[in-house]
Amino acid sequence: MSMNKRKLRRNLKQFGFDKSFIISCIVIVLLFLGIVLYNKVLTPQIDLKGKNVVTINYQDKFKDAGYKATYLGDDVTKNVEVKGKVNTDKLGEYEITYTAGEGLFKKKITRKIKVADIEKPKIEINKDNIYICPGEEVKYETKVKATDNYDGDLSKNVKVEYKDNVVTYTVKDSSGNKRIVNKKVLFKDIEKPTIELIGSDYKDVYIGDQYNEEGIKAVDNCDGDLSDKYKVEGNVDNNTLGEYVLTYKIEDKAKNENTITRTVRVIERNKNGVIYLTFDDGPQEGTTNVILDILKEEGVQATFFVTCKGPDYLIKREYDEGHAIALHTCSHDYAKIYSSVDAFFNDLYAVQNRVKNITGQESKITRFPGGSSNTVSRRYSQGIMSRLTNEEKNRGFRYYDWNLSSGDAAGGYPTADQIYNNVVNSLRKNRANMVLMHDIKPYTRDALRRIIKYGKENGYRFEKITMDTDMVTQRVNN
Ligand SMILES: [Zn+2]
Repeated sequence: MSMNKRKLRRNLKQFGFDKSFIISCIVIVLLFLGIVLYNKVLTPQIDLKGKNVVTINYQDKFKDAGYKATYLGDDVTKNVEVKGKVNTDKLGEYEITYTAGEGLFKKKITRKIKVADIEKPKIEINKDNIYICPGEEVKYETKVKATDNYDGDLSKNVKVEYKDNVVTYTVKDSSGNKRIVNKKVLFKDIEKPTIELIGSDYKDVYIGDQYNEEGIKAVDNCDGDLSDKYKVEGNVDNNTLGEYVLTYKIEDKAKNENTITRTVRVIERNKNGVIYLTFDDGPQEGTTNVILDILKEEGVQATFFVTCKGPDYLIKREYDEGHAIALHTCSHDYAKIYSSVDAFFNDLYAVQNRVKNITGQESKITRFPGGSSNTVSRRYSQGIMSRLTNEEKNRGFRYYDWNLSSGDAAGGYPTADQIYNNVVNSLRKNRANMVLMHDIKPYTRDALRRIIKYGKENGYRFEKITMDTDMVTQRVNN
């Protein structure tokens, strides 16, 4: 036992554990307790909400998370003095101090705010894969836009690298924030071919007549022109009346498919339910060209009774787009053309020559200004209309009056709605509807598309006048 005591003392001594050391220890402990007492009891307690060190992004709004102060059990938060400002428009470190108490018993706490650029730059590019046609060279964007919240435009700093079928765009801002965008390169055709119909999407065939397939136009991004590679679903029975839908299918090498349809109607040969849209007095810039656009889009053919007015190119276009070009006299001057048979035919041949010069075709389809029933001509020559209608037949012409007036020549300024109503309310299924219109009238132009839509939706069909078309004639009154 005494052996052990001696041993212990010797050991303590060896490590400096003598009496004075222990006293020092006690003093230190008391001092420490004193500091704790001072800090935790005798001075106010300030507790910061949130972190003591806060990092916020450049130009973000700084909002203090708050604090709470107590002193000897009382809430003294109100008495805390807060000092310091944070300017988030400038990178750097800022301090906010919170002070409470007075003199010897004052407490001060600091919060550090670091304003830094912690946002990565942005690269303006989508992350979609890059698809390249098999066997073709890799292509990708080498110039992309990059912007940073702090540095602004970094487009010039974007590094573009292509490796292992991946294009990597990298950009770093002045604070070292790095943005990486990877785009995979795949050698695969994922785009379907484009497809469009040659000819109208809406075709009429007379019963018993052959349906002529005009085909389609198809182009693929990888395989090029595939126009003659289409397959058709559906067929046209040209011996049975009805509507037939043909679906054209085109497939590229990668099996991307596209389809388009065409409606073919097998119709009766008689002209019941036919609409002949006829346009007089043109052509005229600003109206005729728009009318031609609409007819083209709707796949409808019409008849233009032209004069010597208006530009040649519009007559050329009427002809090229498959419409009938017919004759409405050159001058359209009643006093002149209805003064004598010779005067009339001189005038008629003048416009016939004009049309022939433009189209290469001689037209013998005519319409008398004012119609064959006009009575104005009495002023210039008694009985002239009887002579002219006979003489036209003798000379191989055919003339077409109308049985449906759109009312667009009645004077005043009708609205497109009125023109539309005039036409659709007078259409009849049990006849050929010869519709009088004027392609020089803006309201007619504006009513046309709706008239065509109405016709299509109600089972009418549109045709142009040919030399085989039955004449539509009014009663001659002079
Ligand atoms: Zn006219």
